[in-house]
Parts: sequence; C-alpha cells; structure tokens
Amino acid sequence: MPAYLEGALEFKQKNKHVTVVAGGTDISVQMNKDRLEPNCIMSLTHLTGLEILEIENKTVTVGAKVTWTELGEFCQEHVPELAEIISIFASRQIKNTATLAGNIANASPIADSLPFLHVIDAEMELTSSHGTRWVKINRFYHGYKNTEMKPDELITRIRWNLPEPETVLKLYKVSKRKDLDISTFTAGILLRLKKGKIQNARLAFGGVGPVVLRLPKTEEFLQGKLMLQGIFHEAGKLARDEISPISDVRASSDYRLQLAENILLKFFHECSDNQNKKEAA
Ligand SMILES: Cc1cc2nc3c(=O)[nH]c(=O)nc-3n(C[C@H](O)[C@H](O)[C@H](O)COP(=O)(O)OP(=O)(O)OC[C@H]3O[C@@H](n4cnc5c(N)ncnc54)[C@H](O)[C@@H]3O)c2cc1C
Repeated sequence: MPAYLEGALEFKQKNKHVTVVAGGTDISVQMNKDRLEPNCIMSLTHLTGLEILEIENKTVTVGAKVTWTELGEFCQEHVPELAEIISIFASRQIKNTATLAGNIANASPIADSLPFLHVIDAEMELTSSHGTRWVKINRFYHGYKNTEMKPDELITRIRWNLPEPETVLKLYKVSKRKDLDISTFTAGILLRLKKGKIQNARLAFGGVGPVVLRLPKTEEFLQGKLMLQGIFHEAGKLARDEISPISDVRASSDYRLQLAENILLKFFHECSDNQNKKEAA
C-alpha cells in the first residue's frame, strides 16, 4: 500500500506482474469467479496525489483515484450527458470506490466510460519510474483486454477537452435492466453542427467487438450532410456494415446489429425534439 507515487512506480518496476487494485470492483469479481489468484497485490488506497478533478482552459483532468461518485457530481455541471450515464452506472456503493482509471485499464468492450472517452478524444497519462507519456484513447486498446500500458506503467491521469458549444453529444447504454446492469450495447455520438449542417461526426460503439469501435465510414458519410431523417436512416445502415458483433449471454449478434442501426435514428429524433422545444420556447 504505497503512500506516494514514486514508491508505487518503483514497486511496479521491480514487480512487473503485480496486480494493481484501485476500487477493486472489477478485480474482486475476477477473484470471486476463480479467474484470478494474484500472488502480489499493490493497492492504491493510501496513495496520495492522484485525486485531481479540475477544469483548466476548457480541459477536464481526472486523477486515477477519482471515484465514479466524485466524477458524477462534477459532471452534473460540466458534462451533463456523462453524468446521466453515471447515474445508471452500477450502484452507489460501487461508485463510491470504483474509479474511471480502473474502468479504462480493465479494458472491457462494454465499459460504460469508453464510448464517451472515444468521441471526446480523451488521453491517458501513463507513468513509470522512467517518466510520463500521454496516449490518445484511439491508440490505447490493441485488442481484447490488450492495452498500450507497459508492465511498469500506471494510469495517473485522464484528460479531455470540453465539447465546443456547437456540438451535440449523446451517450447511450442498452441493458436488460435500467439500473445495476451490465451493458449489452453502448454508444457515443458527437456531432459538430453549423447552420443545420454536420461539420464533423464522431461515433463510438461498445459491445459490438473485442474493443470499443469508432465508425470511420459512417463518420465520413455524415460529414457535410443536413440533419435529416433520411440521412440518419442511411447512416444506420452504414454503421451496421462497419461492425460484426458476436452472440453471447446478453444478446444475439442480430439484436446488436439492429441496435447499431436504430441508435442513429434515436439520436436524430432526440435532436429534433430538442430543436422543436427550443423553437417553441
Ligand atoms: C456490482 C457491479 C456493478 C458494476 N456496474 C458497472 C457498470 O454499470 N458499468 C461499467 O462500466 N462497469 C461496471 N462495473 C465494473 C467496475 O465497477 C468498473 O469497471 C470500475 O470502474 C472499475 O474500477 P476499479 O477502481 O474498481 O478497478 P479495479 O477493480 O481496482 O481494477 C480494474 C483493473 O484496472 C487496473 N487498474 C486500476 N487502476 C489502475 C491504474 N491507475 N493504473 C493501471 N491499472 C489500473 C487493475 O489492475 C485491474 O486490472 C460493475 C462492477 C460491479 C461489481
């Protein structure tokens, strides 16, 4: 239980296969299910210096020890879409101890933070006793449970720029129950608009492959288009072609393909409703 980052990094350097525990809410499940029996554990519980949670020059920085409860409260004002996803993330008890860094490092394709972090183009600070480097989320995941993190590194901070005023951001979590359930499918959609035209589109879907995926062909198709139902109908078809989900206990491949298509139309209708409400006001 190191108290300082230097001690933690030194220990990780000397014990590369140590199991790092932050909130322990993923690791403990793996241990309960007999999938993991670590010989050596390093808990971050007493570590100080990774509690930062701030906005400076429109950049949000989240320390590796920030819990989901703390992040949720912070996001209510600064990133309300993410606060909404956090409100249906796990339970109060889990959120009081679990961290964003743990969610990222655990590298699950259905981790609820990842569609947001992908469309917002987040970066992770990876630190070892040799120094620090920032890695963009689109370079962080190499494959299923395989990340860019080296054995002697820890995630120390996560940062992203706040969405610009002309952007629309929507996040989705589809699960069998609304509360306390594992996601079947997740999505993040971020569009930058000018005079009703899409200037730039970022789409990220989770639960449709071994890692959360960006959809470059659908993004390219949307660029320069008007916000029309037919466009999103066509984009949904394209999105479907960009993924090849598997069937598992939570959903069939067909169901996930249909979700991927439908979510674009849902997004369109939500945007239209908001616009109508604005005009009526
Ligand atoms: C009942 C329950 C409900 C849940 N609900 C949800 C949900 O709705 N959505 C969702 O996405 N997840 C959910 N989870 C999963 C889990 O709570 C989250 O993934 C959480 O964010 C993990 O954070 P942690 O701090 O507990 O990670 P830990 O379990 O401590 O660690 C997870 C992994 O990350 C590594 N790690 C942790 N911190 C660092 C670091 N700083 N640097 C490098 N590696 C690190 C660990 O070594 C481990 O491999 C749930 C879990 C439970 C038990």
